[in-house]
Amino acid sequence: MLIEISAFAAEHLDGDQDMSALGLSKHTEPQEALMRQIADSSVEVQVRKEALAALRQKLNDGDPVYNATEQYTKAVEDGLAARNAKTTRQRYGDHLSYKNFRTRVWNTLSDDPMPPLNDLLPAEEGDVDGDDDEVLMGGSRTDYRCPLSISTMKDPLSSTVCSHSYEREAIVAYLQQHRDHVTCPVNGCRATLRRSNLQENPSLKREAQAYARRQERKRLQAQAGTSSIVD
Ligand SMILES: [Zn+2]
Repeated sequence: MLIEISAFAAEHLDGDQDMSALGLSKHTEPQEALMRQIADSSVEVQVRKEALAALRQKLNDGDPVYNATEQYTKAVEDGLAARNAKTTRQRYGDHLSYKNFRTRVWNTLSDDPMPPLNDLLPAEEGDVDGDDDEVLMGGSRTDYRCPLSISTMKDPLSSTVCSHSYEREAIVAYLQQHRDHVTCPVNGCRATLRRSNLQENPSLKREAQAYARRQERKRLQAQAGTSSIVD
């Protein structure tokens, strides 16, 4: 489906500069909205799963569970309300399928590598904004960094149970050390990971490599700048 969308976008390129600067075209707008709905639905499934898991844990611990249905409904409502209170960047900025969709559209519209997705999602109240890479630590700029090795990923594997990615070598070793059963190493993420929950992510791999090349170019430019000042 995504390939068809990209082909469709290529056939219907328009001159809307504002949109194309954000990697969007009015012809891909309906698909964009659909991808957001899919992202929302997958989060809702996750919220429901977690609510059920919490109830199951109570039972396992031998705690009595009264009004299980009400408890479940309340937990789901709270989870969804928390989700709805988030900004667009927080909701979609690191959602894997949404990001892959935006990357494909971007690559159809532009020859340049796609900037971090958060740069293509206008900042809203509640977002941390700024051009400084350090400011957005924890935002999408760190997506290219493996949470285990803390360096830019060269060969990423992405989790199918949360929105996080890791350098292959690092996560595979980590899982081996922990008998194929770990909590996602990203701070604040409670997803449980096994090797079977990891999948290749070719578009993230391309993005991470493009990011590494941009960083290298910046570094060389900075170096050239410094030496010309010294000269
Ligand atoms: Zn995670």
